[in-house]
Amino acid sequence: MREPDGPVLAVDIGGTKIIIAIITADGRIMAEERQPTLVVEGVQAVIGRLFSGIDNLLEQNNLRPTQLRGISLAVAGPIDSSRGLVTVSPNMPDWHDVLLRDMVGERCGVDAFLVNDASAAALGEHRFGAGRGVNNLVLLTLGTGIGGGIVIDGKLYLGACGSAGEPGHMVIDVNGPECGCGRRGCLEALASGTAVARDAVLRLRQGEKSSLVEMVGGKMEDITAEKVGEAARKGDALAQGVISRAGTYLGVGLANLVNIFNPEMIVLGGGMVNLGELLLGPARQVALAQSFPISARAVRIVTAELGERAGIYGATAYAFDSDRRLA
Ligand SMILES: [Zn+2]
Repeated sequence: MREPDGPVLAVDIGGTKIIIAIITADGRIMAEERQPTLVVEGVQAVIGRLFSGIDNLLEQNNLRPTQLRGISLAVAGPIDSSRGLVTVSPNMPDWHDVLLRDMVGERCGVDAFLVNDASAAALGEHRFGAGRGVNNLVLLTLGTGIGGGIVIDGKLYLGACGSAGEPGHMVIDVNGPECGCGRRGCLEALASGTAVARDAVLRLRQGEKSSLVEMVGGKMEDITAEKVGEAARKGDALAQGVISRAGTYLGVGLANLVNIFNPEMIVLGGGMVNLGELLLGPARQVALAQSFPISARAVRIVTAELGERAGIYGATAYAFDSDRRLA
């Protein structure tokens, strides 16, 4: 039914767009297509468009599904990997217990695989990006939220039911601000893009001065982490303080990960990385100062290389690793 050495049709379903690509075992992208997710249209519509996208890409490249190693899907949110189930998805509110893996596998007559998008990104960077040649790495995607993935001894670590690798929800401060997950003081609530924007607004509302107010024409709701970064680069003290504080919290989170996993590498990806040393400087400093010296000496903290293709590369590696995983 499948071609073990054939290419993988890899799909990354995000909140705003779906990337579909055909990728060979050595990481060559044979074809790639993007389409808007249009979450508001509902689960069935998104899946319907996913199927036509898959059909079109195969047809354009004169491939039959049976010539593929399989179809591998990366999706945000907790994935039950043994059942191939998207339990819930933060980007797609009406997705509950969707048996996506088998729906795709049965519809297309191929082996199908399903993995969390940030776990896929970790595997992608490990196999084809910043982490090539490294055995143990932890990846964090720093965006509006914070996701992550763990590679141990060259294999993706998924835990008991597939939901391992959520560094965004390790608690840094039990009395900290509320997190999207309903608890308090998670790393995501302290160091994500959402947290940076929230902290800037909070300080402005307390009467502090900043060029940010002028930058958004007085509309506080328009303040984003990106704008805070722009103000910080121009020397705005409040913006610099907010980012540096987030970087410090990020550093505490990284120190915890360094102490638990003793990784050779921590890979940082996502839009927040564009804040550069304003964020990463304090993060590195705190991470190294607060972890065991022996582990601190062994770790390199680097930025991701694959950008928004990390998910499709990782989904590809996940499919090729599947025999090894089952063995
Ligand atoms: Zn949380």
